[in-house]
Amino acid sequence: MASDNLAATSVTRLPTREELGFDPEALREKYRIERDKRLRTEGNEQYQEVGGDFSRYLDDPYSPPLKNREPLNDEVDVIIVGGGFGGLICGARFREIGIQRIRIIEEAGDVGGTWYWNRYPGAACDTEAYIYLPLCEELGYIPKTKYAFAPEILGHAQRIAKHFNLYDGMCLQTHVTGMRWDEADQRWRVTTNRGDHMRSRFVIMSNGPLNRPKLPGIPGIRSYKGHTFHTSRWDYDYTGGSSEGGLNKLADKRVAIIGTGATAVQCVPHLGAGAKELFVFQRTPSSVDVRDNRRTDLEWAASLHQGWQRERMENFNTLTSGGVVEKDLIQDGWTEIIRNLVSMAKFRGTGVDWGDVPKLMEIADFQKMNQIRARVDSIVQDQATAEALKPWYRQFCKRPCFHDEYLQTFNRPNVHLIDTNGQGVDRITETSVIANGIEYPVDCIVFATGFEVGTSWTRRSGYDVEGRNGQTIGNKWADGIRTLHGYMTHGFPNLFIVGNSQSAATTNFPHAMDESARHFQYLIKQCLDDGISCLEPSKDAEDAWVDHIISISRFNEVFLNDCTPGYYNNEGKPNRRSIQNGAYGKGPNPFFRITKAWREGGSMEGMLKG
Ligand code: NDP
Repeated sequence: MASDNLAATSVTRLPTREELGFDPEALREKYRIERDKRLRTEGNEQYQEVGGDFSRYLDDPYSPPLKNREPLNDEVDVIIVGGGFGGLICGARFREIGIQRIRIIEEAGDVGGTWYWNRYPGAACDTEAYIYLPLCEELGYIPKTKYAFAPEILGHAQRIAKHFNLYDGMCLQTHVTGMRWDEADQRWRVTTNRGDHMRSRFVIMSNGPLNRPKLPGIPGIRSYKGHTFHTSRWDYDYTGGSSEGGLNKLADKRVAIIGTGATAVQCVPHLGAGAKELFVFQRTPSSVDVRDNRRTDLEWAASLHQGWQRERMENFNTLTSGGVVEKDLIQDGWTEIIRNLVSMAKFRGTGVDWGDVPKLMEIADFQKMNQIRARVDSIVQDQATAEALKPWYRQFCKRPCFHDEYLQTFNRPNVHLIDTNGQGVDRITETSVIANGIEYPVDCIVFATGFEVGTSWTRRSGYDVEGRNGQTIGNKWADGIRTLHGYMTHGFPNLFIVGNSQSAATTNFPHAMDESARHFQYLIKQCLDDGISCLEPSKDAEDAWVDHIISISRFNEVFLNDCTPGYYNNEGKPNRRSIQNGAYGKGPNPFFRITKAWREGGSMEGMLKG
């Protein structure tokens, strides 16, 4: 790989319109018009909860129901809610300090979290596999390709669980119904839908950030009599094929897919290949850049030295935190856009007027999105379809996508893009989807409409937690999350949270999860070594952290307000609560430095010990 001095840049002043070859003001206006078309007064309320008569959308199509088991009435050292990567990494780190009685409670039929549920055809991870798959070095595993597909990732989750004996004592197909701190006993009491009454000294909540599928509140959605499912519960009995594609049972079917986000981008090529006819209902196009996946070079794999994975993960995080590295080890679309569009590091030492930097960054964004739009023209043959597939917003208003077959799929004669000019589907009838006033009769509707973000914590977790003095997390967090480091919350001792609110958000989620697991490992070890029976942040420390999070919010309200609606900006309604629930604004590496220094300080500053 070529050496890449990222500090070097030729940008020293604002370029003129002639030099640019486009008019920034005209683009700004176009973005505004496209955003305004999509603003809806209902905001997040346009979606409906998947429960009640919609609960079948949550059924698990991948595992047979577990036989009834005897309820458990026992005590363990640590309960981990959630068997995704967050829970598994915590389990692994706790094994390292000798904790024996670890119990993972998981709603699904196996571990894997999001990779258990999202098995749709083409499902893959956009983050490079060598940094995404956790604990590769510990397990001696090298991913097969630069970007891993879902089955390999699920297999890796199972590998971690086996390696660290985390299946021992695991409760699968079990849903936590409540948690209560027992002051007298200094233990958590956890109940489940299987009648369990468990006690535990420590509890980890690793519920996952995008765990609850959501459905659009399209009029008539209940009346549809054809087949439907959500992408996170793919019905292979109906479609045939597998995560690798080959959806042979759709050969005589007219299929609709609603939604064109990161999930649809990955499954549309397979639906297009399998279905007799495919109708892709689009409200807002995704930005789709080059993927360029490739098999792992075995010679390169053999040359890796000890510590390679951590080094690579840190290299990525330095870049994504706006830092400068000698060499970009990942060299992909993520590092390119984050380096060019988010990081201000490249302007240091260039003599550029610092007041021009936001404008220069906006120009870099325009240029990148021009390139994305030109890519559409270079691939999609029909001009009107190409025009409709062009995204008109700044790159980080929505999640960037990378794919080498999505846009190409619209050249198939059986695939029809139904662009709704930002309005979405009009209604659904017993037999059809109606958009732009036109009726499209279909045999099946696939909802690629994403997951709940910004709804209440208890609604997404499915349970509430009662801490000291009867206070519940639902009540405490009603106006926004309150924590120290995103990890612990006052009034809820020995309770640890894996998530990205008020802590590090990185494109490489498992890295942040591992950092939190190491932090919890440290705290739990302190408790065990020093005879501390309970630990929680003080109210003062927590208040100071919340204020800090709000004050350094990376994407300020102006940026978010200018963005097209989506879950990044609370569906076009950014507010103090959504900013408070956001991530640490200076990026993941500065956050990791803070928590590392905090641990090295040795005094557990801001913690109340009992
Ligand atoms: P998203 O929330 O990103 O997309 C939902 C889609 O549904 C959007 O295109 C939305 O349009 C559309 N939609 C909603 N309501 C309507 C309506 N009434 N009519 C028409 N369209 C509608 O969900 P995804 O499942 O695609 O992705 C969720 C997240 O999962 C990603 O952002 C990413 O974080 C993660 N993911 C990660 C992958 C990886 O590689 N690691 C791969 C896939 C997903 P609009 O944009 O207008 O709101």
